[in-house]
Amino acid sequence: MTAYDRENIFAKILRAEIPAARVYEDDDTLAFMDIMPRADGHLLVIPKTPCRNVLDASPQQLAAVMLTVQRLSHAVRKAFDADGVTLQQFNEAAGGQEVFHLHFHILPRHEGDKLRPPGKMAEREQIEADAAKIRAALAL
Ligand code: AMP
Repeated sequence: MTAYDRENIFAKILRAEIPAARVYEDDDTLAFMDIMPRADGHLLVIPKTPCRNVLDASPQQLAAVMLTVQRLSHAVRKAFDADGVTLQQFNEAAGGQEVFHLHFHILPRHEGDKLRPPGKMAEREQIEADAAKIRAALAL
């Protein structure tokens, strides 16, 4: 498998070289808003240490990320009064992966809704407002 690239965009977010709407972090993981949300509240959860995806992640990285995914799934459900939550995760280009640092997508869902098509940037104000809702739900 290709080696981990330290210049990938999520590595830059972890080093605070580029901005992100951060909603949660602990020693091992970070959660921030997806800039092209396919649903209001679309979040990404990543490990703070390098790995490309599930195929090269350590058990410790996977365990830490999954605990944060569960915590944030509860938070987005509360924040958006969601009926359900979709998790997505892609591995290597052939598996649909575009950014090669392990990440899980968390998408709040409502009965009968459809995910928006990929690739459309949201307004910064909207993303910040959604991030604030999730932070508030985490604080409850
Ligand atoms: P994938 O690797 O297929 O899971 O897709 C990468 C995801 O990262 C897409 O949903 C993008 O919208 C998202 N993304 C790309 N750049 C950024 C960024 N700078 N901040 C937040 N999300 C991003």
